[in-house]
Amino acid sequence: MLSREDCLSLDRKDPLAPLRCDFDLPEGVIYLDGNSLGARPVSALVRAQEVIEQEWGTGLIRSWNTAGWFDLPLSLGDRLAPLLGAGPGEVVVTDTTSVNLFKALAAALHIQAPSRACSDAPHVDETTLAASSQSTLRRHVIVSERDNFPTDLYIAEGLTRWLDQGYTLRLVDSPEALLTAIDQEVAVVMLTHVNYRTGRLLDMAAVTAHAHACGALTVWDLAHSAGAIPVDLAGSGADFAVGCTYKYLNGGPGSPAFIWVAPRHMQSFSHPLSGWWGHASPFSMEPGFRPHATIRSALCGTQPIVSLAMVECGLETFERTTMSAVREKSLALTDLFIGLLEARCGAHSLKLVTPREHAQRGSQVSVAFAHAYAVVQALIEQGVIGDYREPNVMRFGFTPLYLRYVDVWDAVDVMARILDQHTYDESLTPGGVT
Ligand SMILES: *Cc1c(COP(=O)(O)O)cnc(C)c1O
Repeated sequence: MLSREDCLSLDRKDPLAPLRCDFDLPEGVIYLDGNSLGARPVSALVRAQEVIEQEWGTGLIRSWNTAGWFDLPLSLGDRLAPLLGAGPGEVVVTDTTSVNLFKALAAALHIQAPSRACSDAPHVDETTLAASSQSTLRRHVIVSERDNFPTDLYIAEGLTRWLDQGYTLRLVDSPEALLTAIDQEVAVVMLTHVNYRTGRLLDMAAVTAHAHACGALTVWDLAHSAGAIPVDLAGSGADFAVGCTYKYLNGGPGSPAFIWVAPRHMQSFSHPLSGWWGHASPFSMEPGFRPHATIRSALCGTQPIVSLAMVECGLETFERTTMSAVREKSLALTDLFIGLLEARCGAHSLKLVTPREHAQRGSQVSVAFAHAYAVVQALIEQGVIGDYREPNVMRFGFTPLYLRYVDVWDAVDVMARILDQHTYDESLTPGGVT
């Protein structure tokens, strides 16, 4: 088992150590919740003041052009793209993950609907329409995981109910079950790359290849992948992707999300939120919608510039390292945390939920415990901020940009004392004291 001294020495040798200075972290806090809300880049305060005082205050409406506001969703998308294995002009930063998922799923279903091929055909009579809508049902299934983040499932439910074309959601209970669940009936496979609760990482390339072999398209949610692990959207052959910027990308609370469309789908990309920002010529003020030919068509309405501008501050730090360096430290930190927990808290029937295999692990460690909620509260009181997820999971996110090895050692030290001395209040539950 590593000692605290060993951890301090790892920190002295850590090539990512200088990046911690990019963040403003409160004294006395070990922050293991950067997977939920990333820490604040120091530059965010400076940038916010600049945007508000100069760009908004002085520049006023001129700033849409002079300060680059109009192109901000695209320019940020281009800066984010390398972290996702995507190219320039393929990503925009806009809206929320939920809304972007709605657009991506709608676009994928639209591409898959065979009736689309007939819709432009002349002289379509009612019989052909009926036939084509029946053939639509051949691919009527959307595959996902029951344990997916709820909003993803809610969005799929909402969209398909609204479409009212007989789509069904086929939910699997384990990643292994995906292979049999994906068959010729499936239109779209909609998955989260790293599970928010367990931290389990799916093999994007393998699942995508299997989906494609069955004729299905894939929509990947990268909420817990972007900035956490290397992602290779192009190399894995994915079709669509969405994700957050306020988690590992440190964009700030509620900072806009992103959406990526594979270049091969750009021409057929279409979604129902056809607002004027996605129009081919927004300032022509035409009565009819014509989609922009580029990823700009994924935009809907006027962008939240102040929040959007903060995303840049989060991305800057990534430009001073590589995702493989981030990944290497992330695995070292999570390995260390798991090892220390086993050595020091082994007597307390904690159960590791996150896979040990590196190939299946995101940048978090989840541990099940009967009094998980109470222990998380006790940890937070002592400055170790992790979080609780139903039904009994303590969840700890590891952000290599600002976490030190010694933080991991200290966090486990606090945890061991809480468990050994039983200084948590078992009557505390998520709903309040029972
Ligand atoms: C965090 C998270 C979201 C959040 O969606 P919002 O629309 O930003 O609230 C969505 N999906 C997954 C998988 C997440 O982890």
